Amino acid sequence: MAGVMRLSTITNTAYVTTVALSMIAGVAMLMASNSMRTERAAVQQRYVLDKATSGLDHEIFYQSEKAREYVISGNPEYLEDFKAGVINLNDTRAMLGRVEDAGARKEELSTLQTAIDMARTLVNNQQNAIEAYQAGDVETARKMVFSDHYEGELSLIDATITRFQALLDQRTQVEVEHAITRARFWRFMSEVVLAATALMFLCVLYFILKRRILRPVMRLSDVVTRLAAEDYSVEISDFRHMDEIGDMAEAVKIFRENGLERLRLEEKLERDLKLRNLLSRMTHRMQACESKKEVANVVRLFLPVILPGYAGKMYLFEEDDQMMRQACDWLEPKGSAPEFPPGECWSIRRGAPHRQGGNQTDMPCQHMFEPGQLDHVEAFDIATLCVPLTAQREVIGLLYCELPDGVISIEQEHYVFMMAENISLSLANMHLREELHEQATADPLTGLSNRRLMEQRLNTLLYDAHDTGRPVSCIMLDIDNFKMLNDTYGHDMGDQVLKDVAGVLKSHTREDGLAFRYGGEEFVILLPGVEPGDAVRRAEAIRKGVAALHFTFNEAPIKKVTASFGVATTPNHCAGNKLITTADAALYESKEKGRDRVTKAPLGVKEDLVA
Ligand code: GH3
Ligand code: MG
Ligand code: MG
Repeated sequence: MAGVMRLSTITNTAYVTTVALSMIAGVAMLMASNSMRTERAAVQQRYVLDKATSGLDHEIFYQSEKAREYVISGNPEYLEDFKAGVINLNDTRAMLGRVEDAGARKEELSTLQTAIDMARTLVNNQQNAIEAYQAGDVETARKMVFSDHYEGELSLIDATITRFQALLDQRTQVEVEHAITRARFWRFMSEVVLAATALMFLCVLYFILKRRILRPVMRLSDVVTRLAAEDYSVEISDFRHMDEIGDMAEAVKIFRENGLERLRLEEKLERDLKLRNLLSRMTHRMQACESKKEVANVVRLFLPVILPGYAGKMYLFEEDDQMMRQACDWLEPKGSAPEFPPGECWSIRRGAPHRQGGNQTDMPCQHMFEPGQLDHVEAFDIATLCVPLTAQREVIGLLYCELPDGVISIEQEHYVFMMAENISLSLANMHLREELHEQATADPLTGLSNRRLMEQRLNTLLYDAHDTGRPVSCIMLDIDNFKMLNDTYGHDMGDQVLKDVAGVLKSHTREDGLAFRYGGEEFVILLPGVEPGDAVRRAEAIRKGVAALHFTFNEAPIKKVTASFGVATTPNHCAGNKLITTADAALYESKEKGRDRVTKAPLGVKEDLVA
């Protein structure tokens, strides 16, 4: 109950209770003072009544004395005194009125009345005795005031007055005692109520200060301190106060929730940033890749980091045999064949991502059920996401992911799509680059590489040879009298000869040689790791191969086509950068000597051998 009361409610309740208790204490004090007043009034009344009646007894005896002294002495002074006393006694009526006014009771009044009546009778007797004395009957007069009867009457009056005073005493005593008891009671009550008020005040103060303010404030301050230190694990749930501190706790709670939300957002942002960084790094690496194998390596490295827990494979479409072939995998995927015809994948058929299994009911792809892979039940159990890799609306590959627990968040799915797009783009770029390179370095007539590529290759070979110390040989050949052949049989015939000669070169350089069309009707063959002797033998074989070619013009055979050869080897004949010119010089020698022959470059002098 106290736990849910507001501080203001407690304070108000305490205030009202304190006021009520104070009022009760005030009333009790009033009652106590009232009782004291009653006590004082009773004492006062007693004093008044005492004063009113105390003379009576005395006067009666005084009268009796004067009457007796007179009848004994006959002294008129005594008579005068007696008469004066009678006037006083006659005044008793007024005294009765005073006593009644002073609050005397009926019983008391009647007792006093009896005493007065008796006193009157006695005074009558005294007057009778005085009259008898004055009449000369001294004896009778003296008997009348000194008789036993007279004495008894006097004592009775005295007793009656004493009784009146006793009654008065008794009553006043009771009243005073009553008033004192009441006054004590009310004083005690007021003291008790005051003590209760003070106690309650102290209790409320203690409760509010200690239990409702100090303790919660200390806890709250601890919470706030920890929150300020960004420790959001702190719990505020035990602040169930409905008071101002509860409001503060509620505010702190909201502050904590905001902080947590901010932290969550920051974490998410940081995660996003990290992921974006990864994606961008992956994209950059892929753009710098020079082969599909390199792209596959990049994918294998980055994908499991970008999508932790999602095993998968990347397939590339091989145009030669029209098959999807696995290029790489990551995190040990359970399903999907290493190669399959594109039609076996729903995503490739539809040209759109295809997700099945888990919380998405859809057709599983046929490449999941490849013989020797998984049995049907196992394959059905795997939830998958296939995303086709496309370039200019043509499928060039496939990104295959296995979804643990059968689910993937929209965000992660988005990342898969983004990666598929990036991979596609990079593969398409590579394809384009390859085509451009091919166009830039291939000779369309003969299918051989051109002089530009030859120079690049030669540089690479010389670079490698420099490291390994192995030789590089070069065969250079030029078709003999080609201009005349062109002139005689036409340009088309010339082209045909060029193509066939290139065919001979290709067949002789399939394994280790590199054949190039150097320009016009001149060709170059580079032979890395081939010694001069072998190079000459190879040139000889090619020379024979060319000479063995048959050409017909208008169905008639034409004159034999021949070529002249020059052979040079670095470092035997020259430095690497002089290899082509040295071979060319040897070729020139062959021409000089009558064509259709092979000439080896002379052994180089020392300074020629230095690059
Ligand atoms: P030599 O035995 O001294 O080498 O004499 P040649 O006639 O072969 O030498 P020359 O350099 O005088 O002639 C080369 C000719 O090759 C000139 C040119 O018309 C021809 N030619 C160059 N490129 C092509 C081509 O692509 N197709 C055809 N048909 N002819 C070409
Ligand atoms: Mg020529
Ligand atoms: Mg020629």
